[in-house]
Amino acid sequence: MKLTEHVPLASFTTFHIGGEARFFAKVSTEKDIEDAIAYAHEHTLSIYPLGGGSNLLVPDRGVAGIVLKMSMRNIVYEDDGDETLLIADAGALWEDVINIATARGLFGVENLAGIPGTIGGAAVQNVGAYGAELKDVFVYADVINSATGLSRRLTHTEAAFGYRTSFFKEHREYIITRVALRLKKHSIPNIAYPDLLRAQVAGALLATPEEIARSIRIIRAQKFPRGDTQGTAGSFFKNPVISRELADTLAERFPDMPMFPNKNGTVKISLAWLLDHALSLKGFSMGRVRLYERHALVIVAREGACAAEVDALSQEVSERVFALTGIRIEREVETFGGQ
Ligand SMILES: Cc1cc2nc3c(=O)[nH]c(=O)nc-3n(C[C@H](O)[C@H](O)[C@H](O)COP(=O)(O)OP(=O)(O)OC[C@H]3O[C@@H](n4cnc5c(N)ncnc54)[C@H](O)[C@@H]3O)c2cc1C
Repeated sequence: MKLTEHVPLASFTTFHIGGEARFFAKVSTEKDIEDAIAYAHEHTLSIYPLGGGSNLLVPDRGVAGIVLKMSMRNIVYEDDGDETLLIADAGALWEDVINIATARGLFGVENLAGIPGTIGGAAVQNVGAYGAELKDVFVYADVINSATGLSRRLTHTEAAFGYRTSFFKEHREYIITRVALRLKKHSIPNIAYPDLLRAQVAGALLATPEEIARSIRIIRAQKFPRGDTQGTAGSFFKNPVISRELADTLAERFPDMPMFPNKNGTVKISLAWLLDHALSLKGFSMGRVRLYERHALVIVAREGACAAEVDALSQEVSERVFALTGIRIEREVETFGGQ
């Protein structure tokens, strides 16, 4: 493991923002991770795993500990009757996982096509889109506990997935090294999501995993800014999950706001709708950052923008939503070392 000092992190994130890592290492083997953990213990440093940096806002002050760029990318699969177990190293690109699965005609991850980042980051976040979540196909994750140095395998139950969250998100000491997904050789396409139904009406073929993934990439290209021209980490805020009572009150005030009831009686509401229709914030800018014109949950940063500007815009949006609804919105994007 080669440890480098004072490494600028902006180019390792899709926001293209943030200060330096005091220490930085590309880790390609479990031994590399173990060596980094030993160094961190010896020098009392925190460890920050880094995948594709696509759900991350690095503070302008940088990161005082060791950033570990997860660089192991092997993907293997095992046939198991009607199913296939796909096992990928944590640094494997999520799009590579999607391409391998869909090229083999395997169902399960096609609705999650087009999401940047690594499979390790996808498990932390329980990525979701177009009516699917990673938890639907997750089997296990191999992890190393950076506090104890011990390795173990975490099951689906232990991973405790929720809406854009997981055990891994709540227990930062665990570094994911490998993730296994169970994919199906035959399945009914999951195309009930309105955007997909509209694409089907417009003539898109949506029978195979490859066709669904292709359509989803086309839909996404219209909603998200191109990462090579502008900085973004996708949806910056989570959709709020609120009580049925509050949802009923809001439904009276905003009858057109999309609401998605959960099985446990809570209701997920569309923050994008609130920002766009109730607060007219689409395109709202502060300094070099703004809410994207085509998707109000997305913060876009111009060249030269800094994390403090993103924080200020985020704070302003949060205050306006609170003043309107009494809801405290949460960030989906994470900050190394906390906000
Ligand atoms: C244009 C765009 C569109 C997006 N669309 C979606 C979407 O539709 N749905 C969705 O859910 N997300 C979406 N995202 C967010 C993001 O792509 C996902 O959350 C992605 O899974 C993050 O993976 P990553 O490898 O980039 O993680 P990073 O950003 O590198 O890390 C995120 C967090 O996970 C931790 N982490 C990363 N790897 C590991 C590991 N191996 N072990 C332990 N912890 C680790 C990091 O420390 C950090 O706290 C989008 C982002 C962009 C830029």
